Amino acid sequence: MRNHDLSKDTVMLYSGGISEGDSLHPESPPIYNTSAFFMEDLTTLRDTDARGGYSYGRGTNPTRDLLRQAITEAEGTANDDTLVFSAGMGAISATLLTFAKAGGHVVANKNLYGETIDFLNNYLTEFGVETTYVDFRDPDEVRKSMRPNTKIVYSEVISNPLTYVIDVAAIARTAHEGGAVFCIDSTFTTPFVMKPLESGADVCLHSLTKYFNGHSDTFGGSATARKELIAKIRPVMLLLGNSLDPHNSWMILRGMRTMPLRIRKQMENANKLAAFLESNPRVLRVNHPSLTAHPQHEIAKKQFYDGYNGAILSFSVADDFKLLDMFMRTLRFVKYLPTLGGYRTTLSHPVSSSHQDVPESVRLKMGIHDGMIRISVGCEEIADLTADFEEALKVF
Ligand code: PLP
Repeated sequence: MRNHDLSKDTVMLYSGGISEGDSLHPESPPIYNTSAFFMEDLTTLRDTDARGGYSYGRGTNPTRDLLRQAITEAEGTANDDTLVFSAGMGAISATLLTFAKAGGHVVANKNLYGETIDFLNNYLTEFGVETTYVDFRDPDEVRKSMRPNTKIVYSEVISNPLTYVIDVAAIARTAHEGGAVFCIDSTFTTPFVMKPLESGADVCLHSLTKYFNGHSDTFGGSATARKELIAKIRPVMLLLGNSLDPHNSWMILRGMRTMPLRIRKQMENANKLAAFLESNPRVLRVNHPSLTAHPQHEIAKKQFYDGYNGAILSFSVADDFKLLDMFMRTLRFVKYLPTLGGYRTTLSHPVSSSHQDVPESVRLKMGIHDGMIRISVGCEEIADLTADFEEALKVF
């Protein structure tokens, strides 16, 4: 890779900067807002097609390619490539469709983003694809669920909202022993916490809507993998028509320029906020891998970079909707937002959002109760953040 000797923070400032045919050297790349590129004659058309040049925009676009290049440099190696999609779900659905194959079997973590489970349960079943859900905290459970027709092993690195952490290298070994492709959603982790491909995962997926963009103002998704795997996903993306448009590609590339600053501050704040909440007598429990009480704290320490643990945490207070409303109204600047990963601290309520369709008895067994709150930690000054929570928690 051209930038192999630079730190990942520096790479993120410069990668994906220069597109083909650019002679004016703009500091910010242009948005090629075009659906197609005209051809002077048939010879040009043949030459363009032969070298995979720019022709029809659903397949190729220079602005989109800059983002693809930047994500490959952030997440992969010179042998890898990236596709970018209209949303995280676009990346997830195209990848699952590519590798599941009719009659195939998927082993998936039972702690997954709800709409990924919807796609597996409500759509892939139509193609005869069956999914077995197991707890990926125990790689042995994954091994025991593998069948001769298991095509995909699927997980997230850190689960929502309980922040369970999986041992990526151990699951990768298990998946490969069974001949399956290991797809991992690293949205909560980002390449500043770990690069799953380095630990043996085959496809690294992101909702770019979250930390890569970082400003809660657009959608996007990505899949990074070895070039031969990307070559298999690409036709599915083309036929589904869910590639990322040039404007949103540019927005996310712009977001990436400040990602090292944002995400490091967010993760430092998350470590501190988790410790603060744990010490607050009104808080019953805190879930964040930075805490020594977290059941996978040691795995996180071993597998995550620089003491970072992501910037998502959850905590439990009393199961009382009236008090929860009061708590939310008392918070000065932390607001409810049905997304995560933006530069400001936001909260969500799993029972009313991500887990609203999970039967009560099941979610209670999982530990997801009415008084659980999930926080996406932002870039605020930590003293302001803890003061806001300290004051609002007094309602309990
Ligand atoms: N993966 C995870 C872990 C998510 O949290 C989300 C959305 O919240 C997605 C995927 C889907 O992303 P998008 O909304 O960009 O489709």
